[in-house]
This record gives sequence, C-alpha cells and structure tokens, in this order.
Amino acid sequence: MAAPSGGPAENGVGSGGPTEKCGVVGVSLADDAAALPIYYALYALQHRGQESAGIVTHDGFQQHSHVEMGLVGDAIDEGDIDRLNGSTGIGHVRYPTAGSVDKDCAQPFSVSFKSGSLGLSHNGNLVNADAVREDLAAAGHAFTSDGDTEVIAHDLARNLLDAGLVRAVKRTMERIHGSYSLTIMHDDTVMGVRDPRGNRPLVLGEVDDGYVLASESAAIDTLGGELVRDVRPGELVVLDPEGTGYESHQLIEAERSAHCFFEHVYFARPDSVIDGSLVYEVRRELGRSLWAEHGVDTDVVMPVPDSGRAFASGYAEAADDAGASVEFAEGLMKNRYVGRTFIMPTQQARERAVRLKLNPIRSTVEGRSVSLIDDSIVRGTTSTQLVRVLRDAGAEEVHLRIGAPPILAPCYLGIDMATREELIAADRTVEEVRDEIGADSLAYLSIDAVADALERSRADLCLGCVTGEYPYDVEGEAADREVSRPDVGGGRAGLSTSDD
Ligand code: SF4
Repeated sequence: MAAPSGGPAENGVGSGGPTEKCGVVGVSLADDAAALPIYYALYALQHRGQESAGIVTHDGFQQHSHVEMGLVGDAIDEGDIDRLNGSTGIGHVRYPTAGSVDKDCAQPFSVSFKSGSLGLSHNGNLVNADAVREDLAAAGHAFTSDGDTEVIAHDLARNLLDAGLVRAVKRTMERIHGSYSLTIMHDDTVMGVRDPRGNRPLVLGEVDDGYVLASESAAIDTLGGELVRDVRPGELVVLDPEGTGYESHQLIEAERSAHCFFEHVYFARPDSVIDGSLVYEVRRELGRSLWAEHGVDTDVVMPVPDSGRAFASGYAEAADDAGASVEFAEGLMKNRYVGRTFIMPTQQARERAVRLKLNPIRSTVEGRSVSLIDDSIVRGTTSTQLVRVLRDAGAEEVHLRIGAPPILAPCYLGIDMATREELIAADRTVEEVRDEIGADSLAYLSIDAVADALERSRADLCLGCVTGEYPYDVEGEAADREVSRPDVGGGRAGLSTSDD
C-alpha cells in the first residue's frame, strides 16, 4: 500500500484500502490540566482516525466535552483546550466502521446517568452490539446514536447502579463480545480496558506528574513519558485521579490472545512498541523473511514509499547477507503535497491519483530489473499502476514482493478493509493476481513467517483477513452489519496516496 500524504509517514491508509478505526487516550495528572497532553497524544495517533477528534475532561465537579468532525488540528483549538478543565480526561480520534458518519457517533461519547458521568473512547468493533442494544432499549434506555460505544456506555451505566466500578466493568465485559480497547472516565476516574483476547492495542505510560493510557506508545513518547507496559488482554487498569499511581484488575482470562497482526504490518506507527515489539523492527524482520522465502536477484530493490520502506530495508539487508549484489535505492518519489485525491469518485480518477503522487526516478529503474517491495495488497489498483509506471520509466523486469500474506477476506473487527468483492486476492490465485497486476513475478510472505516475526503462535494472532477464520464469532451479526464509509470514494481524506 502506498504511503499517505498529510498523515504520518509509513501509514499508508488507503482509499478503499484498510483504514484503522480509532485511537484512544486517557490521562490522569497530579496538578496540570489534562486537555493539552490529550491533544498532543491525539496528534500522535492521528493516523488511526481522521473523521473526528474529541476530548472529555473532569474537574472533580463536572465533565467538560469537546468533540468535532475533522483532523485534530482542525477540530480542537486553543479556546477549546482552555475550556476543558480538569486534570483527568480521555480523548479519541475516529474513523467510522460501525455507526454513522456524523457527529452523533464522534467520540469520546459522554453522558450523565444516575450513576454519575461517563465518558468512553472505543477502538474496535463489537460483534453483538445490536443484541445488547435491543436488551437495553427494552429496559428503557434511549439511544442518540447507532454506534457501538453508546451501547457500551449504557450497559456500564446500568451496571453501575448496583455495583462498584470494577464489578460493573467486569459485568459489561462479560456482556459485550468482540474487539475493544477502551478508555473510560467515570466522574474523574480514568480507566483502560482491553478485550479478553487483546485484539486492538492499548498501552500504559508514566509521565512527569501522572499516568497515560494510549493506543500506541508513540503517544506516550510525544508527551516525554515512559512506556510502562501493554495493558493485558482482559485487564482493567484504573488510574488514580490524583495521578499518583494505578490499579490493575485482571477481570477476564482467555485461553488464547488474538492480536491483530495487521497492526504491526500496516496500521501502527513504526516508532510504536505494541505487545512488546517495536513495529519498525518487526517490519524489517518481515522483510528479511520475505527475502528468505521469495528472494529474487534483481539489479535494484526499492520500496513503495512510505509503507514498504522498512520491509525493503530488511529484504535488501538479507539479500546482501546472502551475497546477492542488489542495490537498495529509492525508485519512486512521493509528492507529499497531493492530498485527498482519492476523493475522486471514479476508478479512472483514482488511477490518475497514483501518478500524481508517485513518480519514478528514472536513473534507478531504466534498463534494470527491479524488486518492488510493499507491505500488502488490498484491491491491487496501486500495484497495477506502479508496475506500469516503472515499466514506462524503462524497467526491464518488475518483481513484486509483499510483506504479508494475501488478503482474502474482510475484517469485521474494526478495520475498514474493503468488501470481499473488492479484494483482488479473494477469488484469485497468486498467479492470477500477478497476471492482473502485470508484474513479472509476485510473491507474498507466509503466515508462519508473520507469526515468527511477532514471536507468537498462529493461534494467538487474529489472522481473519488472510485465512477467513476469525477469533471472534462474526458469522452472524457482525458480518451482516453495514460498514459505514464517508461518501468520498471509499477512503478517508488527507492520508492516502493510493487505493491500497
Ligand atoms: S481480520 Fe485482519 S485486520 Fe481485522 S483484526 Fe483480524 S488481523 Fe486485524
């Protein structure tokens, strides 16, 4: 997948390619106001969602909320930060995959119940949200949005009527099923929860005068803090409202985890540490494995910028170790100032957008055989275009190497992957995909190599989009649910250079 323009480097969120659902933050400080650090943390997580951004704080007496559509810098200004009083708070950046594309579904969701005020930020996708919603509606709960997050908030509010905080969260965790990393604020207490199989990431960090929860450790780095550890699957971490410490409650133990392997391959920032592994190093290791499995001796190895860069560097390093005389070079130059071109509604317009954003460096490719390295192929439009671009620039051979297995099936767990019909590998063999794309050869990394690079067994990873077998029961409700997308040609504005 080609790289973004306008978004953080190396997160090639694509038009119609996989798009991460959300980023969540929670902050509890001793003295300082929480809103500004939350704002900076959301900036660090902007690649995880560009539809809306919001912050909810609590000053010990009341809750303050500001949620707006748009990128963090557009949605929240200095005046908003000044109004968001309090030393505890949560934040959210959103890309919608369940629920409407409007402000009603923007987060954090905040509301006051008899049991106190609640704020919720959610990353993931429930597979039984409709059933829980029906139960709650029958019990008299009125909903203002069609998103999962409000369902969780109402269920938690109901449980808080006759249970303490920890017990109430446990009951809600027992009721909801699917993928979730949550930051929750009950009055001025901030908490973080990860679903029992730990599908989406959530980390705990320490800053000068308090503690931080965030989807990725890069947000903690941004605040000058230290990563303490990952929140464990099924764990509730409760931050002390005075910012002096935290409590851990292992509320549910699952036999197996189900980490989304795509976080390391594609979604997360390369400078983040997720489930104990630095994303950049995992990508380089995947590149090394790609050479070991499918190395091809060509004159030059080049990445699709920026998403393929870490993979290509590992691939070229392994090639060098093996004595192959390949040159590692940049052969495609990205125009960082072309943004939002994927809002072009037609396939033809999207294809033109690729040429606007990625231009070949002729001296690298002319008259030479080329290995082009990318992290994944979703629809295949970009790969097809890039092969053509390189041939037009004089490449004699183009060999495409992909640092992930073929994507065969959609994601029902919070990633806007594309529909099954849109996935180029869903009903084609590798040879048929190669033929469609027009490359001289095409090879994907094996699932076993991915598991090895992540130092996990296959059984402890979610591999649903590359096997069609999901770790959560998505056969019924989740598979039937509509994925809402902005009406902009299938992708999020501002981050994509290509369709995948
Ligand atoms: S189906 Fe794929 S993208 Fe979705 S959670 Fe599983 S591994 Fe991640």
